[in-house]
Amino acid sequence: MKRRQAILLAVSAVVVVVALAAAVHRYRENQPVGDAGFTMGTIPYTIAVVPGDVERDDALAAATQAAKAIRRVDRVMSTYLPGSDLSRLNAAGAGEAVKLDSELMTLLLRARSLTAATDEAFDPTGRGLFLLWKETFKTGKLPGDDAVAKLVKIVGWENLTFNAADCTVVKSDPAVQVDLGAIAKGHAVDVAVEELQKAGLDGGMVEVGGEVRVFGVSPKGSKWVLGIRNPFAGSGAKPRPAFAGTVAISDGAVATSGDYIQGRKIGKKRYSHIIDPRTGRPVTVAPSVTVIAPDCMTADTWATALSVLGPDGIARVEAIDGLEAMMVVGDPEQYKILTTSGFGQYVRDPMGELVP
Ligand code: AMP
Ligand code: MG
Repeated sequence: MKRRQAILLAVSAVVVVVALAAAVHRYRENQPVGDAGFTMGTIPYTIAVVPGDVERDDALAAATQAAKAIRRVDRVMSTYLPGSDLSRLNAAGAGEAVKLDSELMTLLLRARSLTAATDEAFDPTGRGLFLLWKETFKTGKLPGDDAVAKLVKIVGWENLTFNAADCTVVKSDPAVQVDLGAIAKGHAVDVAVEELQKAGLDGGMVEVGGEVRVFGVSPKGSKWVLGIRNPFAGSGAKPRPAFAGTVAISDGAVATSGDYIQGRKIGKKRYSHIIDPRTGRPVTVAPSVTVIAPDCMTADTWATALSVLGPDGIARVEAIDGLEAMMVVGDPEQYKILTTSGFGQYVRDPMGELVP
């Protein structure tokens, strides 16, 4: 059997493959091959491959295909690219049948059922609200109640009629817009992993903007070890640990939504980039939520949804097979870590003190 090689295609690092550092360094000396990049605007992605018996060139080709799949998702689903299918849908008038790429159509239908599964906590049709708050964070001027209420009224999938047979969608109101920011990264990770899995590799990892999925073995021949960010790291006078802990996984996805640091402060109050579509206001309960799921789209979506649902959402996740969650609630002065009962099976380095 050929010696196991690992090709590490650069390291972005919102979530870092922590315990691999030494192994990666060793392989890098022999295999200085790299490729990584940015997608969906400025979001970094990383693809790491453990070829096993697969020729190095073939393993690299698989990684290239995986990167292409990520770019394809971006082209179709980006709201930053005016020509993307999603942008065309957002710009369309009422009653206009907008022809969409079939992959986008499938994702929109999945997103619609996930909105129902999350009690409307996750709802991509809230784009009007997301934009309103983005603008607020820029100007520092809070919106009036009327502006928020007006946009809450047009949230909901019932304002979109899907015709699966000819891949078209019709909006009932021109103001209705869709934002896949809470699910597209996870989906991109999944399609990239599918590409890698076709190649017969021993293992692989794909990360897009902090959402990760792994399969098979790590370069060490064991489970992949992933760090969960400490939401309170980087704030405060004294240094705080970068990671809340680590989890070890061989097949599955880990996504984190949280923004204690990412969020904006207006006056004394801190506001999240995650909006409760039901109230139209930024969420405040959970500085960080981590979800483990078989696929990354599910993990990504539920991490956002749980940020909205707060501690009550833990019981919902508990009832779903294959889904585990960890939630940090409170603030650096007074915080709590909540988990589903099965989360512990994945923990390798237990959650330490976030604010020592
Ligand atoms: P994430 O970082 O995965 O939690 O996704 C957050 C992004 O999704 C935000 O930047 C918005 O574009 C969008 N978003 C915010 N709140 C929601 C929500 N409640 N449901 C769906 N998408 C949301
Ligand atoms: Mg998400």
